[in-house]
Amino acid sequence: MLSFWEEKEFTPYDFIVVGAGITGLSTAAVLAETQPNRRILVLERGLLPTGASTKNAGFASFGSLSEIVTDLRNMPEHEVFNLVKLRYEGLQKLQARISQKQMNMDMWGGYELLSEHEVLFLDHISRINDLLRPIFSDDVFRIVDDKIKEFGFSKKQVKRMLFNPFEAQLDTGKLMWNLLNYVSSRGVVILTGCELQSFEDTGRKVYLKVKNPYAEEPIWFNAPKVAFCTNAFTKKLIPTLEMEPGRGQVIVTTPINNLPFHGNFHFGEGLYYFRNVGNRVLFGGGRNLDFNNEKTTQLSTTELIINDLETKLQEIILPNQSYEITDRWSGIMAFSKVKKTIVQMHSQNIALGVRAGGMGMALGSAIGEQIAQLLLE
Ligand SMILES: Cc1cc2nc3c(=O)[nH]c(=O)nc-3n(C[C@H](O)[C@H](O)[C@H](O)COP(=O)(O)OP(=O)(O)OC[C@H]3O[C@@H](n4cnc5c(N)ncnc54)[C@H](O)[C@@H]3O)c2cc1C
Repeated sequence: MLSFWEEKEFTPYDFIVVGAGITGLSTAAVLAETQPNRRILVLERGLLPTGASTKNAGFASFGSLSEIVTDLRNMPEHEVFNLVKLRYEGLQKLQARISQKQMNMDMWGGYELLSEHEVLFLDHISRINDLLRPIFSDDVFRIVDDKIKEFGFSKKQVKRMLFNPFEAQLDTGKLMWNLLNYVSSRGVVILTGCELQSFEDTGRKVYLKVKNPYAEEPIWFNAPKVAFCTNAFTKKLIPTLEMEPGRGQVIVTTPINNLPFHGNFHFGEGLYYFRNVGNRVLFGGGRNLDFNNEKTTQLSTTELIINDLETKLQEIILPNQSYEITDRWSGIMAFSKVKKTIVQMHSQNIALGVRAGGMGMALGSAIGEQIAQLLLE
């Protein structure tokens, strides 16, 4: 049972954000910046943020040529353009809060490796460069085949290569650590180990039930306005939402002497990605090998996908290097047939900002702004 004091001081807030990923923290940041005297709480189920934001590859990217061409087959041109623009704007907003230095942002650009059957994507390069010119004021994609040899990739598997000078890479851990600090330095209370179990919007206030491990009764936090930024895990709270979880698995190598490349690299139409982290290589992807079983919220790795990553790493990316794999992990994303984040009111006082897809680090700050606006309207 809560005391009179606890009930009065610890449970009511002006705004509560559920989920301490990049979307939730960005929402809390906008609220703290625009409403400095309000009481703001972030509730996070994990002891650390436990979804995708601390587990991703750290690409500050907008989409590879093949991804954009594939999107154009499924979406109207203006929606594809707006999505790229939103990712670009999200990264600008992020840098207004967290400096490039604070998140070790390196502007090495991004590359796409094209196999024999993917070279047809090059037919679209002019059209896509024209489409994106209003955002970047220059050609985004350029052919750099001479780099295939320079970077030591398998010439049998990699036939052509593209370069995008506008991509950057960042240190995901530093970014999220600094964003957490930014938000708490503005007076936001962040409580971890607090899983939202159920909720009720009475029309006047929203009540959020959180299990209290050291008491028989749960704690009911409450606020007039609440945001759910729980991405792939939102279906547990709102089962009718149209979205599916998608697990991403990742490996990291030991340091490699004279690693011949720096930057972000994509292949397999965006299904595989790798980058240097200092002189190590981080490599992820492979959901396509087992799409159905990877539609899970379980944070574990599988032999099938880790073995595939290890084989491709050795055969395509580092054919002449010796190294070991030191780290393997997974994170959970949220997808649907429509490539669009859900930013809308769920009920009178609850806003949703969920289904961030595979480039949510770019989108997070822009989406956070839209969610905060919904709460403030
Ligand atoms: C392996 C991998 C690589 C990726 N690489 C990139 C990349 O290079 N670039 C890029 O832009 N994007 C990348 N992404 C995607 C990106 O990480 C996500 O789109 C983004 O992190 C989503 O942020 P979010 O805050 O919306 O969700 P999340 O980071 O998942 O945050 C949701 C938070 O809500 C919490 N939560 C859930 N349910 C509850 C509850 N009931 N109560 C309280 N808290 C709850 C979770 O614990 C979690 O911390 C990658 C993702 C993965 C998995």
